[in-house]
Amino acid sequence: MARLLTILIAAIALSACATAQLPGPQAERRIALTFDDIPRHQGAFYTTDERAELLRATLRYASVEQAAFFVNPGHLHERVNGVEHVMAYMADGHVVANHTADHGSLSNLTLDEYFAEIDAAEAWLVQLDGHRPWFRYPYLNEGRRDHEKRDGVRAGLAERGLSNGYVTVDASDWFYDQAVSEAVRDGHELDMEALGELFVESHVEAAAFFDDLAIRTVGRSPAHVMLLHEADVTVMFLPQLIDALEADGWTIITADEAYTDPFGELAATYDTPSAQGTLTEQVAWERGIPAPRWYTRNHIPTARAAFNARVLGIEPTQQQAED
Ligand SMILES: [Zn+2]
Repeated sequence: MARLLTILIAAIALSACATAQLPGPQAERRIALTFDDIPRHQGAFYTTDERAELLRATLRYASVEQAAFFVNPGHLHERVNGVEHVMAYMADGHVVANHTADHGSLSNLTLDEYFAEIDAAEAWLVQLDGHRPWFRYPYLNEGRRDHEKRDGVRAGLAERGLSNGYVTVDASDWFYDQAVSEAVRDGHELDMEALGELFVESHVEAAAFFDDLAIRTVGRSPAHVMLLHEADVTVMFLPQLIDALEADGWTIITADEAYTDPFGELAATYDTPSAQGTLTEQVAWERGIPAPRWYTRNHIPTARAAFNARVLGIEPTQQQAED
């Protein structure tokens, strides 16, 4: 009997070893969650208090140890309880970083104006316990085709000890929130179940797409960073999104872990004709990986057509279908 037990234990140990050593991308798919535009304007469904509470409860319930919140301190006093929500996110173990004071686009500002925005935001953030020295470009605009600006910002960030708070996965969550607000305003009837399915499906597809692109580009699955916003639709469907990611083999990791991946070092140096978008796309472009290098529904007319058909029940006109 004792011998049988020994064999049984050995067999179990052996099978555990075999499982741990399974090769392939499925073995290690890691992603951190990040939320931009804190504090974001009120949406169609929640007060800002309700939304912050729901977001906190979802992260807690899903055991998300640490998400990152990219803050526009210039907006804090324009929103109800903006400061309180930032403090509450940090009290839950989440971290905060710089998204400029007022969310200006680099293309519309001089370098001096842009750094005034960055410095004003950093002056407020640096005093907080949950502060991290990361900078996320508003609109992910890193200077586009203006390489002088691109390089000027990179040099200024390095001088300040700030690193690029890049993203590797984007599915344009902001679009669904904006489309819903417009639909509600215009009196459309919304199929909320279909909205949730479209939102979750888009983000899970985008994660798979960008992971595949990264593997084709650098030969491995890096620790990913998903771009999300403090938006009603995002917060509403976040529980289903986390479930769906986990069902698809993803582990939610901390932002701290994601930003120590060596893949991130490429964010300070990549050289492409136009600097904007996910780091995954930029590195793939730099290394000559053929298009498509971005997820299909980040093309907003494509996302709009899916939203209209599935959520509003509006089929495209003949002209739109041909475009
Ligand atoms: Zn933003």
